[in-house]
Amino acid sequence: ASSPSHSIDSPLAHTAGSNVAVVVPAPMPTALTYRVGEGQTIVDGSIVKVPLGRRLVLGTVWGASQDEVNPSRLKPIEQIVDAPPIRAPLRAFVDWVADWTLAAPGMVARMVTRGDDLMQRDPPVTAVRKAGAPPERITPARARVLDVMVDGDVYTKSGLADLAGVSTAVIDGLVKAGTLEKITIQREPGRIEPDPDFDPRTLTEGQADAVHELIAEGPKDGSLDVALLEGVTGSGKTEVYFEAIANTLREGRQALILLPEIALTAALLDRFAERFGAMPGEWHSGITPKTRRQVWRGVAEGKVKVVIGARSALYLPFEDLGLIIIDEEHEAAYKQEEWVSYNARDMAIVRARFEKAQVILASATPSVESRINAKAGRYRHIPLPARYGARPLPSLSAIDLRRTPPERGTWLAPPLVEAVRDTLERGEQSLLFLNRRGYAPLTLCRTCGHRFECVMCSAWLVQHRFTQTLNCHHCGHIEPMPKACPECGNTDSLVPSGPGVERIAEEVATRFPDARTLVLSSDMMGGPKRLKAELEAVAAGEVDIVVGTQLVAKGHNFPGLTLVGVVDADVGFGQGDPRASERTFQLLTQVTGRAGRADKPGIGLIQTHMPDHPVLQALLAHDTERFYTLEEEARRRAYLPPFVRFVAVIVSGTDVAGVKAHANHLKAIARPPETIDVLGPVEAPLAMLRGRHRQRLLVRGPRGRETQSFVKSWLARADKARGDMRIDVDVDPQSF
Ligand code: ADP
Ligand code: ZN
Repeated sequence: ASSPSHSIDSPLAHTAGSNVAVVVPAPMPTALTYRVGEGQTIVDGSIVKVPLGRRLVLGTVWGASQDEVNPSRLKPIEQIVDAPPIRAPLRAFVDWVADWTLAAPGMVARMVTRGDDLMQRDPPVTAVRKAGAPPERITPARARVLDVMVDGDVYTKSGLADLAGVSTAVIDGLVKAGTLEKITIQREPGRIEPDPDFDPRTLTEGQADAVHELIAEGPKDGSLDVALLEGVTGSGKTEVYFEAIANTLREGRQALILLPEIALTAALLDRFAERFGAMPGEWHSGITPKTRRQVWRGVAEGKVKVVIGARSALYLPFEDLGLIIIDEEHEAAYKQEEWVSYNARDMAIVRARFEKAQVILASATPSVESRINAKAGRYRHIPLPARYGARPLPSLSAIDLRRTPPERGTWLAPPLVEAVRDTLERGEQSLLFLNRRGYAPLTLCRTCGHRFECVMCSAWLVQHRFTQTLNCHHCGHIEPMPKACPECGNTDSLVPSGPGVERIAEEVATRFPDARTLVLSSDMMGGPKRLKAELEAVAAGEVDIVVGTQLVAKGHNFPGLTLVGVVDADVGFGQGDPRASERTFQLLTQVTGRAGRADKPGIGLIQTHMPDHPVLQALLAHDTERFYTLEEEARRRAYLPPFVRFVAVIVSGTDVAGVKAHANHLKAIARPPETIDVLGPVEAPLAMLRGRHRQRLLVRGPRGRETQSFVKSWLARADKARGDMRIDVDVDPQSF
């Protein structure tokens, strides 16, 4: 049974014989009804094990069941899990997310309760200490044990055995003799609490103003409290939101910081510890099951005060969440597209509303959506226009590849090569940025023209020299680099086409053989530890030239870095993606923003064939305002988000004809109201992914709930998808 110390929202326990609604982790539209057994103490939010088909699954009690179920068919609750019940605001949030994303409530609830293992308590540690008189029979081994022990201190059995250089059997003997007593210790997470006054920074005037505005009372009526903290790169956004966290801690409430990438967590954990004198909880896919259990429980019991994590941390069962920070709020990585499609930034705002918490969105380059919300007064807009320490922003210029092209077979134009050489001579660091992993994006046969494509996806295989493989960046398929063309059999005709970071690094090694060069790309990394060490080496000046993908574009502080060269600014433009301009503007601002963050000024050089592109022009002039105005106008004219709502409906399966037929069927039965259009079906942006063919219908409608309501009733009328066919709904898709 749940322990009395857990806070219980509803004093009303469900008694034996009554029926409760339990949300189970399955794609079902509603909760299922179960019977409360003799001696079971169940409240709303209790986590329980219930039979589902032949399995026992982890479910959550949502309330009393209103359903009429034949008592003979009713199954009992098998077991109550020893965990704090899920509180009402989090249950309400789960319902809201399910309703908004058109996902099954159980699939959303699953992100809260996760696996079985999460609920287990760590076994208590068995320890010993001196308790009674020395034993009658003293052996040399026993004497050694008693010798090394300090009265009153507690030792683990194995630790003590090691210390004394004896076997654990000797310790057991002493316990039996009554000389030592066994005790158990339950380890508690969050033993050291972050201290809001541990080591506060002296803020600049601009930063202090921003902090003041942030922690000034939000709206009094309990409505939305969102602040957009828009600060140029190096302005000290982190220092500013740390002060908001300090304020939350002083109020005795909990805080959550979301980051778009695991690669950024290590550095932020350290910075947090320096400021607050304690480690926060850490939450992402890279942590151990043990940490996972401790953070989950610690957060639920209110012992872990601050969590730094990936988007999934949004579903943690905080006891009293007072503040959510979304760092780099514009990042596409906040969008999850598997199972439940949701944007953690948008959902954080909803969670905060249920928890009566504040939200801070932080970015140097906010999403167009957030910028518009701020301008319209729905969010408070808090700017930090200057870099810390009066450092100038990097001076940016374009290198026109039409006038000064790179030599044949190379990718760095003469002005960029010169700049790297100058930087090297001054003993400073350069970063060459290209957002393409591997050696070459495409491999082709010079003789017959064959191109290597993934068998499971409609995508080229990317050549990786380091590992001598061809990789699919969509499904993870990897094959050894072939020796001959599978089409014509020629053995010396396979050539790489275009550059990836490995190829740029090769050019750098040829041009600057004495420079210390490092490639930083997510597939080169040997895990987060290695990456952390590499990033620290860069920060310590042990590397002269970094060649990197977007992994190095954001968040990091490299004091010696003064030159950033963008190898190909045009990669991001075009391709018919309406968000391309926004993404490119953000990425290039972020990456050039790495330059000149310490005492020496920075330079950004951008290689492009389109130096007059309005987005590039705004970027070069550091004119964010102009970019957002341009982009807002373009979106408004073209009926694009955020002025309309898109919902993507993707039909996928291994049988291409079946998929097409089902997509056509959906189109045929759609009866949208006048305000809504159903576009398509057409092949989805990746027509085949992991062996599944994909057709997409795009629904365009007004903001608000109408569009979702239409999709819900439309899909409910459709024929059941057969075989392995699946229908995924994505509200506010990334590409449209
Ligand atoms: P941003 O996130 O806006 O790019 P950071 O918070 O990382 O900026 O700050 C940039 C650098 O300036 C960091 O090294 C940070 O420690 C330093 N810094 C910013 N504000 C202060 C301050 N008030 N006191 C001391 N150092 C600061
Ligand atoms: Zn693939």
